Amino acid sequence: MRKQVIAIDGPASSGKSTTAKLVARRLGFVYLDTGAMYRAITLKALRKGLNPQDEKELTEIARNSKLDLIDEKGTNKVFLDEEDVTELIREPRINRAVSLVSVHKGVRIALVSKQKELGKKHNLVAEGRDTTTVVFPDATIKVYLDCDLKERAKRRMLEFKGKGMKTSLEEQEKELSRRDRIDSKREESPLKKDPEAVIVDTTDLTIEEQVDKVVQLYEKRKRNEISLSSSRGHD
Ligand code: C5P
Repeated sequence: MRKQVIAIDGPASSGKSTTAKLVARRLGFVYLDTGAMYRAITLKALRKGLNPQDEKELTEIARNSKLDLIDEKGTNKVFLDEEDVTELIREPRINRAVSLVSVHKGVRIALVSKQKELGKKHNLVAEGRDTTTVVFPDATIKVYLDCDLKERAKRRMLEFKGKGMKTSLEEQEKELSRRDRIDSKREESPLKKDPEAVIVDTTDLTIEEQVDKVVQLYEKRKRNEISLSSSRGHD
């Protein structure tokens, strides 16, 4: 049977990861954090001292690295060539470089192909910038999570402060709008609202509400599919 895919796109800190993780847990689906893959490749490139413009070398890394996203007792771990890089890929230096690495066509082709493979094997909740438009254009449902920039900067600031890192609201606002600009203006698979995506603005929603909305959208789609196929049976 065809696997189910819930595809969620949206800008940084719009609540994609939290929502996708919880929706996956509720439905018993696998959570696919595509951003973590771009982050892991960026980490490897920085360690090798590569120039973020060097598409050839970056593509090699994206093609030949072993990337594993594993749910360990409810915690989503990211492994790069068997090394646990879950924390390392969230560092500010990765935030600064990742958009520059992910503009390259070769890098995207390599990672999208790994993502599509996962979609053949598992029911997925996939989140990123191009999961509704490029990776899973036939997803069961498509969601675009949006959120006001100031609210996103506040969320990110709290996340960093929670980890004991120093930062300010202004700094986060600047960093997020820079990343939004690169992600939505790039030539290859820019972040955009797919015409089939349902837009959910999370600015004033609690996490619980966001999760409920996505689960309801999915359940409604499944009910419609079932009633469509049973009405076809009566033709
Ligand atoms: O979602 P997250 O903030 O972890 O994504 C990090 C970066 O990875 C994004 O800013 C974007 O440049 C890139 N990305 C992408 N396509 C995806 C997911 C992430 O280009 N599907």
